[in-house]
Amino acid sequence: MSSPLHLVRHVVPFTRYPYRGEAMACNLCGDTGTLVVAETDRRLKQLRSVACTGCGLIRTDPMPSAAELDAYYASAYRAAYQFALGRRPPRHHLHRSRREARFRADLLGPALRPGARVLDFGSGSGEFLAAARGQGCEVTGIEPGRTYAAYARDEHGARVLDRLDALAPDAVFDVVTVHHVLEHLRDPVDTLVRLAGRLAPGGVLYAAVPNMAATGKPPHERFHFAHVHGFVLQTLDRAARRAGLAPHPAYRREDTRVVYRQANASDAPDVPATDLAQTLAAALAPLRPGAYLASGAWLRPMIRRNAKAIRDTFAAR
Ligand SMILES: [Zn+2]
Repeated sequence: MSSPLHLVRHVVPFTRYPYRGEAMACNLCGDTGTLVVAETDRRLKQLRSVACTGCGLIRTDPMPSAAELDAYYASAYRAAYQFALGRRPPRHHLHRSRREARFRADLLGPALRPGARVLDFGSGSGEFLAAARGQGCEVTGIEPGRTYAAYARDEHGARVLDRLDALAPDAVFDVVTVHHVLEHLRDPVDTLVRLAGRLAPGGVLYAAVPNMAATGKPPHERFHFAHVHGFVLQTLDRAARRAGLAPHPAYRREDTRVVYRQANASDAPDVPATDLAQTLAAALAPLRPGAYLASGAWLRPMIRRNAKAIRDTFAAR
């Protein structure tokens, strides 16, 4: 799977990704009805995404199998998307990650008090663990990527496990965070349920995902092979609700970055948004790749993205 040809097939525009995939019901509501919302991704490759007609959750169709996703992360992901083949996370990644960690710590504010038990699911290179530890929290990370987990341990002295099941069965936390991870998972709702089950009484769960309804960039720019699920405000809240969570009124909400608490009787009931799929299909209407290419509209985002990478690479540490 990790042959050079396989890697090349991950980047050649206008071709399919090298995977077979499988049909899958909606992970949020179990419905099998869908509307196509995109046929192309940000690399101008063929990638079909659908919205569930039951609830609006977006997913890749066909869904890559668990084995195909594992193989992808083991080989193509870092080469194709993070330009990182070395033993150490690249500088532009670390710079971005530090900036994000500061933002997340700021949003969580008083929850990160000295002695608070913090779990970061998908802790990457550990910048948020370091930020929370700097505020006196007891931190634990979960990170399956070995290079990044090793970096977090060595550089930040953080405790990092490779999977959730490696925690003691009765281990609970005052703060659980899951930042830009759920969209990568075949089973995001099940994962949220398991994470919510790790909350201590009065604990908070911070979840952040890319908002697929974000405006300001061409629809296909929001699709990415690694993101097998796509959320908007309504579907993130509904997934949280399935996990017994509701937005915490004491915390400010930043779009699809939300601090949740355990739901109680005063929270609004879970009502599916049945017309969300149609709304998303209209908002994300597929562009014809040829017409898009001819328009030259791809040039500016490409330059912007590269300029950002260059800026992050040379930014002061
Ligand atoms: Zn659904």
